[in-house]
Amino acid sequence: MTSPRVEIDLGKIQANARCLVRRLGDRGISVTGVTKAVCGHPDVAEAMLDGGVVGLADARIANLFRMRTAGINYPISMIRAPLLSEMKDVIQHCDASYNTEIDTILKLGAAAKKLGTSHNLILMIETGDMREGILQENLNNFVTRVIATPGVALKGIAANFACMGNVVPTGRDMAMLSRLATQVKGACGPLVELVSGGGSANLPWALGEGSTGRVNNLRLGEAILLGTDPVTGQPITGLHTDAFTLFAEVIETRVKPSARPHASIAPELGMLKLVQSDAYRTRIILAVGQQDTDASGLTFPPGIAFIGATSDHTVIGTSNSTMSVGSEMKMGMNYGALTRAMSAPDVAKIVHCKKMMRGSSRNRESHSVLTLV
Ligand SMILES: *Cc1c(COP(=O)(O)O)cnc(C)c1O
Repeated sequence: MTSPRVEIDLGKIQANARCLVRRLGDRGISVTGVTKAVCGHPDVAEAMLDGGVVGLADARIANLFRMRTAGINYPISMIRAPLLSEMKDVIQHCDASYNTEIDTILKLGAAAKKLGTSHNLILMIETGDMREGILQENLNNFVTRVIATPGVALKGIAANFACMGNVVPTGRDMAMLSRLATQVKGACGPLVELVSGGGSANLPWALGEGSTGRVNNLRLGEAILLGTDPVTGQPITGLHTDAFTLFAEVIETRVKPSARPHASIAPELGMLKLVQSDAYRTRIILAVGQQDTDASGLTFPPGIAFIGATSDHTVIGTSNSTMSVGSEMKMGMNYGALTRAMSAPDVAKIVHCKKMMRGSSRNRESHSVLTLV
């Protein structure tokens, strides 16, 4: 089979989504499935929907179009602020967008009015992650201006953690978000329908003992796709961690002598990171590289160490290899490695269990012609 390739087990993605939807549902929290790490792959999006997520979210308009073109009619929200050049598409194809700039919102409103419609806004609030967000002390003024803007409707507020700043959400942060939702209603009038607490990093809090307050939604990517907690990298109990597998072909295997001292390229260029270790003297080269994935985010079978990677080669070391040229190495991926592999044009994407998805209850009406009787 062609390689490098990512094999995708849709059944495991569906099961992860279902498990999280059920556990969070018990806590009054709905799940939005985040598809940006798989470039809006329509089959993966379908698997999330089959698992019961209430809607989808993505950061890029190209991913949105991939899903819409494949016939996915569920609400999709834009979790990155819309670019001025893509407003019309966002208004026409998204259920809502996440925003932090009043100038963007004024333009969204004007564009929506021109199209004879109204656009839903979710305001992202800065909670210490220091990526996007409206400062908490400015929220009331901001909301007042949003309410006065024709063509837009305030749908909710949201927070984001552990993306830029490695800030782990605490119960106090989440209580603050609930308070802000109440404050907006008190100061500005409208009920804040959606209070979206964050992403997979919020799961320990959301599934913990404390009150969830007014938080009624999480936007989950990593937990559904990889079954891991982005803060610790550890598996989440009850979830599959092997829905995605990367395969690459061995193109050289050889016992190599220890590296001789030699003049090095500037280390900050970081093109080749050979790690000296006598325990891993058999060097295996895989036909996959930094252009295809983030090689440092790969996980290998026991007994194999990652040595280094360049744009087209990945070098691994082992002490007792049975792998020969032409055989295939099977690897796990972290979020960064997955994101790059899914967006790499030279990495094939092979989907498993698609049939299982068909005719599931969600699709019963549109696919009833396929039902076996
Ligand atoms: C990527 C992203 C998410 C999903 O994060 P995970 O850690 O993958 O669950 C949620 N919200 C926003 C704004 C994002 O950019």
